[in-house]
Amino acid sequence: MDIETWELSIAELTDMVLDCYRRAGKVVYKALKLALNLVEEDKPVLEICEKLEGFIINSGARPAFPVNISINQVAAHYTADIEDELTVPRKGIVKVDIGVHVDGFIADAALSIPLGVDYLELVDAAYNALVAAIRAMKPFKPLQEIGVVIEREITKMGFNPIRNLSGHLIDRYNLHAGKSVPNTGIGYPNVVSRTGEVYAIEPFATNGVGEVVEGNVVTIFRLSSLKRVKRDKKANEIIKKVWSSFRSLPFAKRWLARLIGRSQVDEVIAKLANYKAITGYPVLVERSAGMVSQMEDTIILASRRETINLTRAIEIYRELRYR
Ligand code: MN
Ligand code: MN
Repeated sequence: MDIETWELSIAELTDMVLDCYRRAGKVVYKALKLALNLVEEDKPVLEICEKLEGFIINSGARPAFPVNISINQVAAHYTADIEDELTVPRKGIVKVDIGVHVDGFIADAALSIPLGVDYLELVDAAYNALVAAIRAMKPFKPLQEIGVVIEREITKMGFNPIRNLSGHLIDRYNLHAGKSVPNTGIGYPNVVSRTGEVYAIEPFATNGVGEVVEGNVVTIFRLSSLKRVKRDKKANEIIKKVWSSFRSLPFAKRWLARLIGRSQVDEVIAKLANYKAITGYPVLVERSAGMVSQMEDTIILASRRETINLTRAIEIYRELRYR
């Protein structure tokens, strides 16, 4: 292949990739808007998760991970369990975190929905931090500087950023592709962004100490190894099924139940975890039981001058808050 055709094929690929990202981003945006209507007092979280996941699939895309609905002190990694009875409370903060992929190209965004007026400022803090971080994000930027911006915006409002959660580089079928975008100015020295990279930026703000710990509940898993299990044909078949459905992206226990049948799911999860074929994502709870807000968008550093916000969660919040 001569260089001209090679360059042409790269350019075409880039356009195709960009198109996939844009489509994924648009579905996330629409799903977050739909979430605004679905999140209301006493609504079952299970119903919200399934409606949003159904919307994603009906839009011709796939969830990149189960819809996360994390309420109040729970910062992240909660999706409805099978027959979950949790409902939306009357007061507090509901964080809806949605990931969508088109052919493996992922957009990941989150919106905090304040219930009542008690935590508007806490959500504003995460929103302000995300707006400022997106504005500051450029190619060849030390990622630590984004953490400085996020921390400054959140502490300015009298809250703490959650220091052990971070934004992340995204790659095809890979939600956390190595580099992190910190939520404080500490750590990650000398890590720099590059042109063409895709990042999820996700500031978390809290009125607690600013750290999450793992809770006991685990409803999200992912395949961590494709190695064959010796002398367990059934386990190997299930691993194959999981790989062909979800690759190594996170999946819900609910989804596995649909794939292999409700009656087996607990036993299979225990077995696969024992084989180290899957790993769980325990819910993440603020260590001092502080209230937690989060805002997240996925952006592409298209060039030095152009950053594309694929998911525009900040626009949804702005409309909600200042209409
Ligand atoms: Mn997310
Ligand atoms: Mn994320």
